[in-house]
Amino acid sequence: MAHVPNIIIKFGGTSVATKEAVLAIVAIVKRHRTSRPVVVVSAIRGVTEALLALAKCPKAQIPSHISAIRATHEALATALFPAETVSDILGYVDAQLAKTEALARKGRFSPEKMDVLVSSGEIMSSYMISHALRAHGIDSAQVISTEIVATDDNFIQAEFLPKETEKNARKIIVPLIRKGIVPVVTGFLGCAPDGRTTTLGRGGSDYSASILGRSLGAKEIQIWTDVDGIFTADPRVVKNARIISDISYREASEMAAFGAKVLHPRTIRPAVERNIPVRVLNTFNLKAPGTLVSPRSTGTGLKAIAFKKDVVLVNVYSDSMLFSRGFLARMFEIFARHQISIDLVSVSEVSVSVTLDNSNGHLETAVKELGTFSKVGVHKDSFGMISLIGEGIASAQDIMRDVSARFSKHRIPLRMISMGASDINISLVIPATDVVRAANMVHDTFLNK
Ligand code: ADP
Ligand code: ASP
Ligand code: MG
Repeated sequence: MAHVPNIIIKFGGTSVATKEAVLAIVAIVKRHRTSRPVVVVSAIRGVTEALLALAKCPKAQIPSHISAIRATHEALATALFPAETVSDILGYVDAQLAKTEALARKGRFSPEKMDVLVSSGEIMSSYMISHALRAHGIDSAQVISTEIVATDDNFIQAEFLPKETEKNARKIIVPLIRKGIVPVVTGFLGCAPDGRTTTLGRGGSDYSASILGRSLGAKEIQIWTDVDGIFTADPRVVKNARIISDISYREASEMAAFGAKVLHPRTIRPAVERNIPVRVLNTFNLKAPGTLVSPRSTGTGLKAIAFKKDVVLVNVYSDSMLFSRGFLARMFEIFARHQISIDLVSVSEVSVSVTLDNSNGHLETAVKELGTFSKVGVHKDSFGMISLIGEGIASAQDIMRDVSARFSKHRIPLRMISMGASDINISLVIPATDVVRAANMVHDTFLNK
């Protein structure tokens, strides 16, 4: 089949939450009509959270939680459509939520069950957005991505399988594009080899967009969100943050991996594999040019700051004074086997410290195993991390001296420092309560000179 160039246009939770946002979606799709767009959508803002909460609330409260999710969809549908369409949409939403409610009432929330439970968010939003496009004269079809994105069975944090996904995307999406139909694909969701629903991790719709971009050989992947693009730091936290117009794949990946929520950490990889530019844009400010993420390196030195407000710090002490041969290998094997990804590592003669993202699932079992041959200390809720990011940063002259001096001047203790071997990241573990102050201080000192 001949290649069909197209673009992927992904809208996040806020971008599908209001009438204003949905009308902007319609305008954006119209603007890109000739580029054969494939739309990817998240659940309406707050809905994923509300679905996850079903697993934690008392059984008696499940109906009222379900009613609240229904009300969110009803309010948007009512704002957008005439009565007849509203009742069609509510029929769909009710059928979906009836399944969700029945599942929630049964209890026993395994990871695979959580993925089914949470999947209704994107299923309902994609139905509504596809309707909205049709209501404005754009031929459109809802596509549920469990039919396309093949994944492993690592529920809640699944990884996609490139070959199968590419085959499915070409089989299902390409014919729609050829007919001039705009597919509206659910973000976040995939399908395990045995057919069960998986999800790609919180914020995973960005990743869905790049997976589809890679699979279809798109010429651009657009991530439409609620800020003007990628900033030098989270603009909601660092008041002097500035927009970045161009950034390299490596820098954007590093920002995402070290806490910049604007992109899901794995978004860039599929784009890199096929050299597809990624553009981050604002649904609520169509005039803003956004940020272009591409292979191009854009100068060296500090480009941006990312941070995590809480990281888990694990200290592993060897029983003998010096680590025995194979100790580190054994330790990392345990983390890997429990699907725990490590951000930073620092090794001293008697201990190894690692920081983990707070979302890691199977930490307790891993710690138990580590405890059979070492002493382990786990600190949760105490530490955060600031990362200074930019190509060539670690070799910048005097950077470490200046950074340490600043932290010392502001009386922010440094618990751990790590300079990545790839010369793009310097990360500092500090008390969680100091993260916001430190991010603003580092930004003002080094980025607002
Ligand atoms: P969406 O629902 O569109 O996926 P997200 O909330 O996941 O949106 O991501 C957008 C948010 O990311 C912004 O509102 C902003 O607060 C946050 N963010 C964190 N770091 C950055 C950054 N460096 N640049 C821009 N936004 C950032
Ligand atoms: N709805 C999912 C979440 O909230 C995926 C996404 O929004 O990207 O995590
Ligand atoms: Mg997001």
